[in-house]
Amino acid sequence: METPSPNRAADPLPLPEVAPTGLQRWWPQRIGWRLALGFGVLVVLMLVALAQATYQIRHITSVTQRFATGDMQRLLRVQALSLQTEGVGNALIRLINAPRENRVVEYKDVDERNKRIDGMVESLAQDLRDDDQEQNLKRLVECRAAYAEAFIDTADEIEGGNTAQAWRLLNERVNPALKTMLVESNNLLQRERERIEVRLNEAQTLFERVAKWVAGLSVLAVALAVWLGVRTTRSVVGPLAKLERAAQRIAAGDYSRRVPMTRTQEVDRVGQALNTMTDAVAQRERDIVHQAFHDPLTGLPNRAALFNPLQDAAQLPNCLALMDLARLKAINETLGYTTGDTLIQQTAERASLALQQAATDGLVGPHPVVARLSGGTFAATFYAANRAAVEALRERIEQAISEPVHCSGHCVDLSLTYGLADSGDQTQADAKALPVDTLLRNAEVALHSAKRAAMGFAWHSEAQEAARLSHLSLLSDLRQAVATSQLQMWLQPKFSLATGRAVGTEALVRWQHPARGFVSPAEFVPFAEQAGYITMVTQWMLEQALQTLATWAPTHPELSIAVNVSTRDLQQKGFADRVARMIEGSGVPAKRLRLEITESGLMDDPTHSVALLHALCDIGTPLSIDDFGTGYSSLAYLQKLPVSELKIDRSFIDKLDLSPGTQKLVRAMTEMGHGLDLMVTAEGVETEAERETITRLGCDVMQGFLASRPLHGEKLQAWFDALAPAIV
Ligand code: C2E
Ligand code: MG
Ligand code: MG
Repeated sequence: METPSPNRAADPLPLPEVAPTGLQRWWPQRIGWRLALGFGVLVVLMLVALAQATYQIRHITSVTQRFATGDMQRLLRVQALSLQTEGVGNALIRLINAPRENRVVEYKDVDERNKRIDGMVESLAQDLRDDDQEQNLKRLVECRAAYAEAFIDTADEIEGGNTAQAWRLLNERVNPALKTMLVESNNLLQRERERIEVRLNEAQTLFERVAKWVAGLSVLAVALAVWLGVRTTRSVVGPLAKLERAAQRIAAGDYSRRVPMTRTQEVDRVGQALNTMTDAVAQRERDIVHQAFHDPLTGLPNRAALFNPLQDAAQLPNCLALMDLARLKAINETLGYTTGDTLIQQTAERASLALQQAATDGLVGPHPVVARLSGGTFAATFYAANRAAVEALRERIEQAISEPVHCSGHCVDLSLTYGLADSGDQTQADAKALPVDTLLRNAEVALHSAKRAAMGFAWHSEAQEAARLSHLSLLSDLRQAVATSQLQMWLQPKFSLATGRAVGTEALVRWQHPARGFVSPAEFVPFAEQAGYITMVTQWMLEQALQTLATWAPTHPELSIAVNVSTRDLQQKGFADRVARMIEGSGVPAKRLRLEITESGLMDDPTHSVALLHALCDIGTPLSIDDFGTGYSSLAYLQKLPVSELKIDRSFIDKLDLSPGTQKLVRAMTEMGHGLDLMVTAEGVETEAERETITRLGCDVMQGFLASRPLHGEKLQAWFDALAPAIV
């Protein structure tokens, strides 16, 4: 059978390679490098902007300085030149009009002004680099020369007293020369102003250019910063988001997809780690799923897998065969768990092979499933056309397990008991396959009835189902029965074969059901044992038995009452202590209460049983092995049991006188019992011939309808009253 593993745990898809394109080729693959690149480019841009701004500011400063120190001063000098020129004209007029004594002062003033004009012209001549200005200055110098000549002539006339001639010279030569000088100096001034205007415009253009440069660089830096920031962020955030989505997919149990490769080394490393983790988790989940649906010892599917509907509708199983390996507990106890495990493995292997072969041969449908449910119990589900096919399959399995298993020096036979269940007649048009759990429950019922009837196999039937339901309702009534005194204790006397005297009685439960009437213990005890309800019954029977013993004690203290104890009672914690307390409370000597335990019950868990029986024996209560001969116990095992009575099962006594073979067996059992110092009782003695035979074979005590049926009420009292007085 396939492992019912979910798809999500399937092998992951291969990782796609990411080929670099265009920009990605030089784009660094590490986040660290990307951040370094981004910030590095930004820093370089800032430095360039800073250098450019510093250079431009210096340039502006030098232009401004030049403007302030050169151009403006020159302008001022030209302005001063004009003023001086005007001043000279006015001084000459004053000179002509001034009286002789004042002229010295005026001459001084005119000389001063002429010197200044000369000085200015000279310094302008050095400063001017413009051709036009030089031409202007040249003309100014010429005018200055003409003026100087006219001035000397005019001064001569003034000094000569020729005022009229002086005025004439002043008007005709000095003033025109001065005017021309003024015009030329104004031209110069105008020219300088224009120059300054040009300079100012140039400076303005420069400012604007620098502003544009700095703004451009800043915009470029900001744009680059934004681009780098977005790109770096996206290159980090994008892959991280992929990782986050991948982690969410993993958390949701989707292992089929790999974390995609990116162009980011750090993220890829985390992605790789995630992929490795995904593989490991997926593998572990597959292992867990496998473990959850498989049995580790045999590798077969387990109970959970049986209910996992993997098959498609066409292959739905309509049959279930429950197979139980016989005597597994006893084998575990006596031959060891390794042998037990080997038997389980061999059974699993052989039954699986037989089933596969049957499927290949078309005896059953394809894809049959064999599962190990627990211990030595296996279930096979498959499709079969009819019951004959199922029985043919069972024979094949029987054939497959017929070879004994050799293990640890032992040679052990495999034996399976089968409980078979199907979905009814599949040839009917409305035939519907039952769910596996229903099939399993039905097969369990069939297996129990096969075991009870000591048959190899049993089919589940409607009658069994009815019985099961009836038992279920009975069980629910049982609790009520204990509480409302519907139970009765009947006593069946046991007699010594040697003396014919009653040696004791066995307590047998009877149930007077208000609706169903008498319910036989054979009908409800096995089910009460399965459900654990038997402990209530035992408790009640022990109380009744001790009460009866207490009433018997004054007249017949030698009589005992044997109460049947189930293995479920023994398994109860503190059972022995509870019995001890009850005995103590009743005041009855412990040896008057017997406890009967069936041999098969003991063999369910031999080692544990020995310890439990010892605990019971320690309280002073004698113990009996009931139904002896049906439970496969060995002499070695019996030896360990602290029992005092062996009750040979009724099946051996029935028609014993007519069966020499069984007589040999009963003799052997009796001798074995005596060899172990046990009292041997024969159960179910019905005929005189049987009584004679058991007496001849050496039995000590008899119990059966021949001597007395189980008694209750008046009949019991009458029997008791008729008893011979006790021989103490
Ligand atoms: P058992 O302990 O072996 O009890 C003996 C059974 O054999 C009783 O059947 C008894 O009535 C029957 N019997 C005695 N003599 C003869 C005979 O000559 N011929 C035939 N055919 N049968 C005879 P019963 O009372 O039906 O009990 C059946 C079984 O139910 C018991 O077998 C015992 O295993 C179980 N059982 C009865 N009472 C209790 C109880 O109180 N507690 C428990 N745990 N089991 C009980
Ligand atoms: Mg009994
Ligand atoms: Mg018995």
